Amino acid sequence: MAYDDENIFAKILRGEIPCDKVFEDDYALAFNDINPQRPVHVLVIPKGRYVDVDDFTANASDAEISGLFRAVGEVANMMGVSDDGYRILSNIGAWGHQEVPHLHIHLFGGADTGPMIKRQD
Ligand code: 5GP
Repeated sequence: MAYDDENIFAKILRGEIPCDKVFEDDYALAFNDINPQRPVHVLVIPKGRYVDVDDFTANASDAEISGLFRAVGEVANMMGVSDDGYRILSNIGAWGHQEVPHLHIHLFGGADTGPMIKRQD
């Protein structure tokens, strides 16, 4: 899928739409999800134009990839969820129910995050 520069996170990165920022460095921006599913629900996104994990791992530089994952760890520490534990998750494509076509890592914490995924049967 080609990157859509009009997606909502691209607009947040360009400063056209506000966000509740919790962290930013050269590689990543992290902000609170507008519809939090746990007391802590932060979205960590790369600054580059990547649709999803497939696109990112195929096309991003090593520095961008390590930068994004370092940011995830940094945000977890900042949000105080590391001791009790937390979950990171990234939805990809239609079956992954990805809504926003700019790679994002959800970070959930501040409460038990429950079972990983519901069984279908
Ligand atoms: P996805 O289903 O793509 O993995 O998740 C997209 C996430 O982006 C959802 O959790 C949704 O609440 C969040 N979201 C959508 N639009 C906005 C927005 O404008 N601002 C913020 N902060 N979060 C958003």
